[in-house]
Amino acid sequence: MNTAVIVKYAIDLVAVLLLALGIKGLSKVRSAREANRLAAVAMALAVLGVLVDSFAGGISSTAWSWIIGGTIVGGLLGAITAQRVPMTSMPEIVALFNGCGGMSSLLVALGVALFPVMGAEGESRIVEEISIVISVFVGSITFTGSIVAMAKLQGWLSTPPWMQSKARHVVNIALAVVSLIAAIEMIRNGGSGLWLLVVASALLGVGVTLPIGGADMPVVISLLNSYSGVAAAAAGFVVGSQLLIVAGAMVGAAGLILTQVMCNGMNRSLVSVLFGGALGASSSSSGGGGEYVNITSCSAEECALTLEAAERVIIVPGYGLAVAQAQHTLREVTRSLESAGIEVAYAIHPVAGRMPGHMNVLLAEADVPYEQLKEMDVINPEFPATDVVLVLGANDVVNPQAKTDPNSPLYGMPVLDVQQARTVFVVKRGMSAGYSGIKNDLFELANTSMLFGDAKKVLGDLLGELKELGVGKK
Ligand code: NDP
Repeated sequence: MNTAVIVKYAIDLVAVLLLALGIKGLSKVRSAREANRLAAVAMALAVLGVLVDSFAGGISSTAWSWIIGGTIVGGLLGAITAQRVPMTSMPEIVALFNGCGGMSSLLVALGVALFPVMGAEGESRIVEEISIVISVFVGSITFTGSIVAMAKLQGWLSTPPWMQSKARHVVNIALAVVSLIAAIEMIRNGGSGLWLLVVASALLGVGVTLPIGGADMPVVISLLNSYSGVAAAAAGFVVGSQLLIVAGAMVGAAGLILTQVMCNGMNRSLVSVLFGGALGASSSSSGGGGEYVNITSCSAEECALTLEAAERVIIVPGYGLAVAQAQHTLREVTRSLESAGIEVAYAIHPVAGRMPGHMNVLLAEADVPYEQLKEMDVINPEFPATDVVLVLGANDVVNPQAKTDPNSPLYGMPVLDVQQARTVFVVKRGMSAGYSGIKNDLFELANTSMLFGDAKKVLGDLLGELKELGVGKK
């Protein structure tokens, strides 16, 4: 083993360790930034390892100009995107990045399939062919599926009516069968069937993603993220890179775990997300499950008076807070409560909003301290000892039906037990339902008052009232 190979293995080993630490750190808000940096350093080391290896192998100057050119263009695109993309467009960007991962694996496999460096023989040829097939198949699905997901989230694409019918299953099964035939042909006869596999699996990616309802898209993005890891691992086998195999497997497993966590948080099975399609996803247009009676509404002034007398307040942020972009006004309100000596915490439901970690990102943008963000299991026992809960543009995640009504579509979904607090204020524009499309029993409870209006406007009014009351003035 020559020195360059030993150096490359050493670099790869450090990169894998940093990547594992990075993925572990991403599971906690407090360590997420540092973890992201660690993963970026791991990526840089991975590139360095390949360069050391290539340098020792004596690659041509043309290859170097491609490597340097690609690094500059890719680096610039990444830096500009990171600077410009607003937090609210994060799901689209994640989808785009997954698509890039899938496309890279596809291109690597195509490169090896079309321009084989040296002819592998016997078993190793079969392993290489199988790796190429998996890389092409999963890479194509990930690429087209992610692009469709991004376009749907961005509002550029909607599901055509025929895609909402059962006919789509027939089309998708036909595409899967064609992909399988092309894959077998490739493994048996090396090379032939390649383009059929590329086209059939690319169309399959479109076919499985297009029918999925907009609100289920974050689950699909997380699944596509997992696929991009699988495609990368397969590409690792194709080019003989242990680092790519390990990193791809880690991303694949992490994406799958996140998908499972999100499905549990929504009380939906992955099968119903994937095959329910647009028919399976509910809309937020009307409140199913009956009309509301005995609704109590109040003004910002009444809410401010109750808050002034409180000792402990819990904020429950939801999708509506993100829509209203009210996080900064909320932070001003909580600052004034805190400076009046009132204890404030934020209850974070795992699927509040429309993408995993949506509320954490939103509140971090407004400089809310990490230690005030409490996960559902931690905060639920604290509601009975809480004076006021302020529910801001959240609906499904605070619906008590999930625990009390076995016939409710939400039954079994873990929810925040806000009704156990002394007083609950719910800020929303009207009585329309949340993502699940069902009625929320919380709104009719005796200790709940509705504060109608856009979250940003209501919080602005509340801030004004608190100032008038002198809350927070030292
Ligand atoms: P919901 O979608 O249940 O409710 C949001 C509420 O916000 C609506 O009732 C709406 O009522 C209100 N709202 C909308 N705009 C505004 C505004 N400008 N100002 C004030 N209120 C507003 O949100 P939750 O966060 O409670 O729940 C998330 C739901 O999304 C869950 O059902 C979850 O399963 C699902 N989901 C989550 C995913 C994730 O990864 N996080 C992925 C996919 C789905 P009104 O129109 O009356 O104002």
